[in-house]
Amino acid sequence: MFATGTALFRRRASSELHRICLWNTSIVTSRPPSLSTAAAAECKGPPPIRVSLTESAGRCVFATRGIAAGDLIHSAKPLVTHPSASLLDEVCYYCLRRLQKEASSVDASALGENESSSTSTCYFCSESCREQSKVFHEVEKGLDWSAFDAHCSTRRLKYPLMVKRLACMIISGAASVDCLDLLQPASLHPDIVMEMEEEFQLLKDIFVKGQFNNEMLTFFTKEWYVNVLARIRINAFRIELVARSYEEMITSATALVAADAAVGNAIYMLPSFYNHDCDPNAHIIWLENANAKLKALRDIEEGEELRICYIDASMDFEARQKILAEGFGFQCRCLRCLYRD
Ligand SMILES: [Zn+2]
Ligand SMILES: [Zn+2]
Repeated sequence: MFATGTALFRRRASSELHRICLWNTSIVTSRPPSLSTAAAAECKGPPPIRVSLTESAGRCVFATRGIAAGDLIHSAKPLVTHPSASLLDEVCYYCLRRLQKEASSVDASALGENESSSTSTCYFCSESCREQSKVFHEVEKGLDWSAFDAHCSTRRLKYPLMVKRLACMIISGAASVDCLDLLQPASLHPDIVMEMEEEFQLLKDIFVKGQFNNEMLTFFTKEWYVNVLARIRINAFRIELVARSYEEMITSATALVAADAAVGNAIYMLPSFYNHDCDPNAHIIWLENANAKLKALRDIEEGEELRICYIDASMDFEARQKILAEGFGFQCRCLRCLYRD
């Protein structure tokens, strides 16, 4: 995620951006197994976008052809997800899909796991999700998280849980140490860094007790923890599902039913490169799980920059400016804000 009007992140080499575009293309064309054929057909071909660096606004996403209102621009799979701590028994531990109430007695008992007295039960919506979680979940299962989970729960911290999962993914070989390095970090107040260092120590103690060999933990330094969390703080998306299933979505009269409360958080690469606009031409939605869909809100011309709104666009000018400054660290200078609308 990068903010309009700020001048950060110009230093990334264009070759890195090229690599990201290719990487994301492969993600779009490898269709999520959970989607029906009709939905998957929407994702055909490379996405009609390019990521470029600009002097005025850093990294930007541009349309490479005209895109019609309502069109799917591209999909994106998350790099890291984590369910809301209060919903561990209601959503899939991996893809954040809501467990079907009527099927939960069968599926949950078949796919749920009660690892240890110190860990909550977690559920998988499918064998595929269980399989994809297997490596990092094996690392998680062997450790006692009670001190760290209690710390996060009393302070209502959600992002450290994502760092915990990422660390387990790295230990198990499911993710690389630098997988979030291309994302913009939040600038951190020294007090926040001190809190992060406390969390780091809690996690470090747990990993050390887990008796991993030193080589596996060489990446896990205070600097790594703070750097990753600084990126997650500004780039994580709060996932609100608009439908419990794709079928529900297409049978819905409005196609955009009221969103459920957040099921968790996730972090992505390409969706994070979209700049903010209080009157955006694109938006990001989640249907039945954490696979993100970027959609055009209106007709977009070739060469036009694609922007999403990071916050609730219905807020007034002052409220938007305040949230964007405090939460994202920039002053919005979009057209709507210039007119103080
Ligand atoms: Zn799942
Ligand atoms: Zn604005």
